[in-house]
Amino acid sequence: MINLDTKIFPTWCPGCGDFGIWAALKAAIHQLNLETHQFVMVYDIGCNGNMGSSIKAYGLHGLHGRAIPAATGIKLANHTQKVIVIGGDGGLLGEGMTHFISACRANMDITVILHNNQVYGLTTGQSSPTSMKGSKGKATPFGVTETPVEPCAFALLSGASFVARSFAGSIPESTKIIASAINHEGFSLVEMLQPCVTFNKLNSYDWFRQRVKHLSQTPTDVYEAITKARWTDQEIFTGIFRNDESAISYHETFQILKTKTLIQHSEKRDLTKYIHDWVE
Ligand code: SF4
Repeated sequence: MINLDTKIFPTWCPGCGDFGIWAALKAAIHQLNLETHQFVMVYDIGCNGNMGSSIKAYGLHGLHGRAIPAATGIKLANHTQKVIVIGGDGGLLGEGMTHFISACRANMDITVILHNNQVYGLTTGQSSPTSMKGSKGKATPFGVTETPVEPCAFALLSGASFVARSFAGSIPESTKIIASAINHEGFSLVEMLQPCVTFNKLNSYDWFRQRVKHLSQTPTDVYEAITKARWTDQEIFTGIFRNDESAISYHETFQILKTKTLIQHSEKRDLTKYIHDWVE
């Protein structure tokens, strides 16, 4: 079993939901017996992305909203790697929304763990694309007027082949779901319900515990999956909404990648010749 622990402990606020996700992710990697050379982490900007210094693994800390394109590049360069994205509702559904849709549509074989705390935590509490209507923040003192984006329903409509949700307050269930998502071949989304104890006083652990219900069975069709994935005032389901193992991943559509990776294809190319040409 690899040691994923660093000497740096995360600097999240005490009680932050990120701790639960961090623990579940590490447990899932152990459960899958992944070795360090078999996966790459890509972190977006946000409190979630600060996980980058607290997991001993190969990784890249990208620009805000751009973790998915970076992960896509890594996957296409070496498709033998598992690629795991850590991002938040702000980065992935605000600045990075089109990248999110594109990855779902392409069935890009990456795992996106979306920390949904319904607020921009790192910049001290502005409303985000998933903030609830009427919720008040520093930039919205009279309450949010827009309809919140629902990442699971959105991913299902956009063609994602694995879509799930878990609650940061339940590490065993989150471990199981994250492990299934990483194992899935194709695009996988895990929306993590992540209380931000400092800047989101509305969607607290207790608020979620009153609403979270475990989905007993994965829906058989996408429309039923969307219905179950939608939040209501009374209940928010956790579990796997869709797991289509027959969907073809984007990289599998390229004949050239059937025999070796893109990196292996380009190994014999003398790049210095091209650099020389450019300089000339
Ligand atoms: Fe966690 Fe919120 Fe603190 Fe950020 S601001 S570390 S999301 S509790």
